[in-house]
Amino acid sequence: MTLEMFSLAGSVAVVTGGSRGIGEAIAVAMADAGAAVVPVARSEDALGTTVDRIHDAGGEAVACVGDVTDEADIERVFDTAEREFGPVDTLVNNAGTNPFFGDATDLDTETWEHIMDVNATGTFRCTREFATRVTDRDGEGSVTNIGSVGSVVGLPSQAPYTASKHAIAGMTKTLAADWAPDVRVNCLAPGYVITEFTEGVRGNDEIREELLDGIPASRFAEPEEIAGTAVYLASDAAGYVTGEVHVVDGGLAAI
Ligand code: NDP
Repeated sequence: MTLEMFSLAGSVAVVTGGSRGIGEAIAVAMADAGAAVVPVARSEDALGTTVDRIHDAGGEAVACVGDVTDEADIERVFDTAEREFGPVDTLVNNAGTNPFFGDATDLDTETWEHIMDVNATGTFRCTREFATRVTDRDGEGSVTNIGSVGSVVGLPSQAPYTASKHAIAGMTKTLAADWAPDVRVNCLAPGYVITEFTEGVRGNDEIREELLDGIPASRFAEPEEIAGTAVYLASDAAGYVTGEVHVVDGGLAAI
């Protein structure tokens, strides 16, 4: 009974940015927990790797190429998921980008807008499409927005990324209140995770040591250490959890 609460058997999940890193780990973990999964990203080849991993483990998955900045793509993603597996129960908004590290006086408006467009507006676009469909069928569902420790603290030299991730935490709280009890909305906020995304900072000896000094766990996370919380937040075990910003950061934001 206790473990059944964590099962996603019979459910359908869309995971944006599901082709590598944290999104891939979440897609694989959700499939392992019983969900039929639709990973979404712009690169078809990379998505194939995620789907192969899920199929090899006996799970169900269908890839869908799509860009979270394109509303027609998002509509097509949900159409595909419904056609293949039925109504979507869970959306994980994980697609994200962070091309700027530096002083904000050197930041051009286009880069600011691009980061906001992918991270914050992309999350909004997907969430709106999902919630509209849940409401139209008079159903229930859950949204997990992948924020960042930058959803709760300021990350030095990362003003637009931090702003976009705070926006995600803010929309999580409002939409959770607006849509309760039918749609639960939470923000899962990782600290530094070993993915392509952090290769730059992890590869620089000075920055890496500085970052590790600020992490009580004294290490970066593996993507799988984020995925377990995503499974939990989508499951019945989190049935009373909504509007929460759930930090998984090795203690970084606690000190
Ligand atoms: P990666 O760069 O490894 O993966 C990003 C994923 O998002 C890829 O699947 C990429 O595929 C996809 N993606 C990027 N842009 C778009 C887009 N416009 N439309 C659809 N898919 C897109 O990053 P991580 O796995 O490290 O990060 C995943 C999430 O976790 C991000 O939101 C990030 O901000 C957050 N995060 C990461 C942390 C870390 O330390 N790694 C820490 C805290 C938060 P493709 O390029 O093919 O589209």
